[in-house]
Amino acid sequence: MHCIRTKVIVAAVSGGKDSSTMLAILSKLSRQYGFRLIGVHIVLGLREYSEQSLQKVQQLCKEYKTPCIVVELRKLIGFTVYELARRARRPVCSVCGLVKRYILNAVAVEIGADYVALGHNADDIIAYSLKSFINQDLEQLAKFGPATETIKGLAVGRLRPLYEVYEKESLLYALVNKLPIVIDECPFRPEQPIEERIKEFMNKLEEEHPGIKLSFLRRLEKRIETYQALAGKREYKKCRYCGLVSARDICSFCKLTKRISGEPLGPRVRLEIRNLVKQIL
Ligand code: AMP
Ligand code: ZN
Repeated sequence: MHCIRTKVIVAAVSGGKDSSTMLAILSKLSRQYGFRLIGVHIVLGLREYSEQSLQKVQQLCKEYKTPCIVVELRKLIGFTVYELARRARRPVCSVCGLVKRYILNAVAVEIGADYVALGHNADDIIAYSLKSFINQDLEQLAKFGPATETIKGLAVGRLRPLYEVYEKESLLYALVNKLPIVIDECPFRPEQPIEERIKEFMNKLEEEHPGIKLSFLRRLEKRIETYQALAGKREYKKCRYCGLVSARDICSFCKLTKRISGEPLGPRVRLEIRNLVKQIL
């Protein structure tokens, strides 16, 4: 007899409009299509912004009856993202991205989830992909499809359910449905990020050529495999310390934390997350 396992999607919720809209819609779809939805929020330690975000995410998950795993970075490893960045002498945004990717994947692997859903909207994808094109960073460009593959036991595939949803639309959905969301921007956001300039330019172009943004996205999606081939096949390894996906012998999270604290903290994070998952699910 075949046993059909219910698919599990982990929704990464930041407290902002996009990932909150995503969670609200996925929770409706989960009933319709019979998959299990679990929210994950990482408390990064970015001043009051992180406190507000946590509060909104908890309220949202309660309203949409979705279990939520809250991972507090400071409790887990003894440092906030800000402290990690300062000690590593790296920009907060780059350390923040690295930590988020690592923890979201670690949670999804511990849960045995099928996918991690991220809240990037259409305007984000357009801006990131055009920025990668400007930099001629094909490896980066190849990452902006609507989904990435699972690498068994090492990395859980990612979905971008809002791939064709414009920023304006996700904001409107959040407002109309009165979702609890954080309005403030992250205090560490750069003053004039290039992505914002690209968004302004593309919105002007859209006014003159309605539909150009969507057709760009659809063409990009069709071309992703070509870019992946051009970027060259990536060899995936298993981190020597934590056992999760890595481009080299040691993953970037273990490398960063080893440099700062003398100990690679990946194994500790995985253990703590395993306990957290057991308590909540
Ligand atoms: P960002 O990297 O800030 O552009 O966020 C991209 C996506 O990552 C968001 O849409 C969320 O799905 C997820 N994300 C960002 N911050 C958090 C967080 N603190 N906790 C959980 N997921 C997050
Ligand atoms: Zn590692």
